Amino acid sequence: MTSSRPNVSFEFFPAKTEAGHEKLLANARRLAAERPHFFSCTYGAGGSTRDRTLNTVLQLDGEVKVPTAPHLSCVGDSKDDLRSLLTQYQAAGIRRIVALRGDLPSGMGMASGELRYANELVEFIRRETGDHFHIEIAAYPEMHPQARGFEDDMANFVRKARAGADSAITQYFFNADAYFYFVERVRKAGVDTPIVPGIMPVTNYSKLARFSDACGAELPRWMRKQLEAYGDDVQSIQAYGEQVISAMCERLLAGGAPGLHFYTLNQAEPSLAICSNLGLGA
Ligand code: FAD
Repeated sequence: MTSSRPNVSFEFFPAKTEAGHEKLLANARRLAAERPHFFSCTYGAGGSTRDRTLNTVLQLDGEVKVPTAPHLSCVGDSKDDLRSLLTQYQAAGIRRIVALRGDLPSGMGMASGELRYANELVEFIRRETGDHFHIEIAAYPEMHPQARGFEDDMANFVRKARAGADSAITQYFFNADAYFYFVERVRKAGVDTPIVPGIMPVTNYSKLARFSDACGAELPRWMRKQLEAYGDDVQSIQAYGEQVISAMCERLLAGGAPGLHFYTLNQAEPSLAICSNLGLGA
């Protein structure tokens, strides 16, 4: 591979059980062989995974030896909570962080905490830690589900990028044109922050449909109909998903996407298959 190889990164979530954690580590080791740019690990808004995220990040970074970025969200966490995590990550030599507003789990009430939006968290991290962290932010080519409208969401993204972000990762999508249009609009607003597409491998139709509804990613009719037609035929769903997502990734990279960020759901095989189809392996 040449030095123009696109940056690939893999996202995990902190496992709830010891067995789940061991599986995560085993899959992370397999993905590490792809020489990823970085790993990241999600954070439960309100601090519900505070210790598990911290431990997983330190282990992936220190033992699996791939630079790992913790996700950090501001709703439901006090400035002291956030400061304490930043200090621990800084002391451990972590250099990248994914800064988010977060979504409080239902039942935890409306946004509490001292910072309300991700742009405030980005400013806070910069104020507290200067240039120590490379700050990633979230982007929504198909619009954040709570946004008042596309223009409003775009203005909020631009403000968040200007607050001190270094790059962005998108919510997953299945429509490459939405990504290209979003990037074009951000560039027209004078912001050159790299925007890396978030890629969701397709492995399970009902889970994907449920999740897509909740996070505002559109599962197009042509995909839905085909996935429905496969019923319980998991192998066909996975083969179809691999082909469709590989083709979309190819188009994204050919159109200038600077890399790919895979939502692995703690699995290795689906992301590895796509990387292999794209010739992105080590
Ligand atoms: P923001 O950028 O704050 O935007 C939230 C909404 O508010 C948008 O509708 C926006 O238009 C609006 N808005 C933004 N700023 C302002 C402002 N100043 N005034 C008024 N309105 C404003 N969630 C987790 O809980 N944990 C995770 O680890 C996690 N990881 C993620 C990783 C990625 C790559 C992505 C794309 C999402 C992730 N999420 C995670 C989900 C994310 O937290 C939710 O989508 C959340 O609802 C919005 O977070 P944000 O950082 O995009 O928020």
